[in-house]
Amino acid sequence: MKRRQVLAGLGAGAVALAGCGREQPAAGADSPASPAKPAETFNWKMVTTWPPNFPGTGASATLLAETINRASAGRIRVQVYAAGELVPPFEVFNAVSAGAAEIGHGVSYYWKAQVEAAQFFGAIPFGMTPAESSAWLHYGGGMELWRELYEPFGVMVFTGGNTGTQMGGWFNREINSPDDLKGLKMRIPGLGGEVLQRAGGTPVMLPGGEIYTAMQTGSVDATEWVGPYNDVGFGLHEVAQYYYYPGWHEPGAILEVSINQEAWDALPEDLQQVVKSACGYVESLMGAEYSARNAQFLQQLRNEGKVEIRPFPDSVIAELRLRSQEVIDELVARDENAARIYASYTAFQQQVNEWLDIGERAAVAARG
Ligand code: CA
Repeated sequence: MKRRQVLAGLGAGAVALAGCGREQPAAGADSPASPAKPAETFNWKMVTTWPPNFPGTGASATLLAETINRASAGRIRVQVYAAGELVPPFEVFNAVSAGAAEIGHGVSYYWKAQVEAAQFFGAIPFGMTPAESSAWLHYGGGMELWRELYEPFGVMVFTGGNTGTQMGGWFNREINSPDDLKGLKMRIPGLGGEVLQRAGGTPVMLPGGEIYTAMQTGSVDATEWVGPYNDVGFGLHEVAQYYYYPGWHEPGAILEVSINQEAWDALPEDLQQVVKSACGYVESLMGAEYSARNAQFLQQLRNEGKVEIRPFPDSVIAELRLRSQEVIDELVARDENAARIYASYTAFQQQVNEWLDIGERAAVAARG
């Protein structure tokens, strides 16, 4: 077949298909229109790990719900519950798995007790930035690995965005050398906490709502939270002297949208597409929001001049990087899923890093 014939054939087929998609009664036809069937509606409870009215991550959960409600013209009605309103924050995954809620919004490292390997889909010390991890999820096999990991739990998963690159945290003690990490009492969860412990510190696990008081009363010497946008929202700049960077422990935290598999399977294809598209919409807006707001609140901190914003010394970063590798090596050695996911994650990180070097990093350096 010649190229022109192929194209002509395709064109005719496409026209025929388009014709099939829209069945309209011919003018003058006397067949009565079939009575409209009332569309089935789906009432979904969305449980989240976020405090009520929490900016950024909490707002993105609300935006996701509103987008689904509107884009489905009310055929899906998602109602959002803040942390603790229906289930405690760290129970979100279990609730979705059991079908107590149809949809959940949080970060995967919160359920590391149930699925340890899930942490790779949240944040890994010295791991990928938001743009890099998004590339891995959507084009590097990450989403497939994530779905495979959750399949035994009856959970379908999408990414709901990213908190952006985080900051190292708020300190009331100077960190000039690895020795200053020894005896440091710091609120830092997950793998980052394990790394700090190995470096001689004492990690403390506190929910977001208790961080301010812990810093104010001196029951912890330091805390990490997110970045300028969320941290200033919590008032952490009022209770700490130093704001250190970079966020070595969370170069970006991927947000998770978990959906009960049966609830997902019950949706007709067009509504599944609505949910997928809504997740993508929120993901892209959230990246933009955090870049804009973090920059805005960082400037506010600089202008106020009350907090000293400083980098960790190279020797401290080197020590933390060494300890991080130990912690991850042990995780990978004891968990088959973690080993498989980590292999994919690191291979992608290495490859994308080369591109970052001569792409984004070089372009930013060239601006001077
Ligand atoms: Ca954090």
